[in-house]
Amino acid sequence: MSGLRIPAGGGPDGARTAHAENVLAPNPSPMTLDGTNTWIIGTHDAVVVDPGPDDERHLRRLAGRLDGRRVTQILLTHGHHDHSGGARRFAELVGAPVRALDPRHRLGAEGLGDGDVVTVDGIEIHVHATPGHSFDSLCFWLPADRAMLTGDTVLGRGTTVIAPDGHLADYLRSLDRLRSMAESLAAVALLPGHGPVLPDPIGTLDGYLAHRRERLDQIRAALREGARTPMEIVRIVYADVDETLRPAAEMSVRAQLDYLERL
Ligand SMILES: [Zn+2]
Repeated sequence: MSGLRIPAGGGPDGARTAHAENVLAPNPSPMTLDGTNTWIIGTHDAVVVDPGPDDERHLRRLAGRLDGRRVTQILLTHGHHDHSGGARRFAELVGAPVRALDPRHRLGAEGLGDGDVVTVDGIEIHVHATPGHSFDSLCFWLPADRAMLTGDTVLGRGTTVIAPDGHLADYLRSLDRLRSMAESLAAVALLPGHGPVLPDPIGTLDGYLAHRRERLDQIRAALREGARTPMEIVRIVYADVDETLRPAAEMSVRAQLDYLERL
């Protein structure tokens, strides 16, 4: 496809497709990778996806990167703080409404949900509900760039955790749905909420699905071996995981136990 520029291997700040550009927030951590990706979509007007944390320096830098473009709407992939915390302040800076699935994160009358189409400069943004990481997770499909903004449903590196407000069964269904969309729509890129652009959507989603099945098999095996508490399972299944990620691993194990119990 002409006009698509997907840098391979580079840092996420400034990564772009024909109509979307990333401004990286300065909140790196083991959970947020390089930091939160804030996506600007549009050439004359702009839609901003995930303003990121409430960090004045980031929000002002983001406003500067608009380069005179008027923000018509702010969209949230989900309500977690590292994506939504700065939304209210950014809305104030640029005078635009905030649309999200969860009414608690909206600013203005309009919600956002599965099947909605948001338009900016004639560029369409198709909204898909992809619950799982959180109950309110959305993905945004850009037909013009054949790219999917995935929020925290798919990350640029590693795998996503199921947050306490999410559910693994929903998550697996969402991954399946993204996988079939990536194939039928011939997607060329996933634009994640953290980490670099992913240039092989089907390969990445297959990897995610395989990883989930493998972890579930490992947890079933750990249970057979007599592990009882989530922490005992973490010690067996996530033995190689860094100490700082143990709480995330425990959260993930709880989500998987909950899933297996309901099968
Ligand atoms: Zn996040």
